[in-house]
Amino acid sequence: MHIRLTLKLLLLTTVLAIGGCGGPYAGPSDAGPVSGYETVSVSQLAGLLGLRVVETASTHVTLKDSTNTVMIFTYTGGKVYVNAKAVCDVGRLDRTAGQLYVSKELISQIQSAMQTSARPRTSTWKSSGCVVIDAGHGGKDPGATSCLGYYEKTVNLAVASKVASLLKRSGVRAIMTRSNDTFIELEDRAEIANRYGADLFVSIHADSSPRSSTRGFTIYVARSASWSSRRAASAISKSMSRTDLTKRGIQKADYRVLVCTKGPAVLVELGYLSNHSEAGMLRNSSFQNRLAQAVSDGITEFLGRNIL
Ligand SMILES: [Zn+2]
Repeated sequence: MHIRLTLKLLLLTTVLAIGGCGGPYAGPSDAGPVSGYETVSVSQLAGLLGLRVVETASTHVTLKDSTNTVMIFTYTGGKVYVNAKAVCDVGRLDRTAGQLYVSKELISQIQSAMQTSARPRTSTWKSSGCVVIDAGHGGKDPGATSCLGYYEKTVNLAVASKVASLLKRSGVRAIMTRSNDTFIELEDRAEIANRYGADLFVSIHADSSPRSSTRGFTIYVARSASWSSRRAASAISKSMSRTDLTKRGIQKADYRVLVCTKGPAVLVELGYLSNHSEAGMLRNSSFQNRLAQAVSDGITEFLGRNIL
């Protein structure tokens, strides 16, 4: 046994001595030095960054995880984009045996861009300790009319007021954009959140559809929503799933209140006023309490995560 092992080691040492440190087969297919240039295959790059290769096209490859999208343009002079922002030139590319190899230097460049863009608030974000709750519509703007005849603005205000008082009870400073039946411009609602530097802005609405069978709650964030907004949406969506309402998911839409707000912002569509069953539930005070509790739980969950 001992002799065989020694022989094996001797053989290995000889191979290494002949081939040099790169080994006899060193080339673009190995992640080793090639004329002072180190390469890594795109799939290895994805693995090292914790991403998946989701698309391989003739002009680019796309790597993804739940929060980041990295696009590498694979033509001469192509660039690397992290979350739609150009980060660096792709530099030299090698194609060997159907595999694409890029410079190892891209790893650290993509990694730091992912950290900056995915969590922009972790280093600079400072908690103001306040949350702005916006009851959608009001005054001359009634919002949708339910199939039972009442207005959306009434449900929005009832649920928003309950959310605000639950938050206050949990020690969160909750500010309402309106506490009675008044009309406020959309930009002014967002401005309230900006003025207070709110940790979160939550706009409360109820949905409507021409199809009376459509039902369920939806959470919206802006198309260019920050990582914090997406975290808040996911926390509220999770807590609202515990009510009897169907989850329709987190969707993106550039509502004025979402794009004019500088900090994290979400819009909650509580349910469908055009659906007979949900219109009944949304009018019911004890169901409103359950909804408000769910929204408030999602907010406090988000704040706990963000502040710590
Ligand atoms: Zn509305």
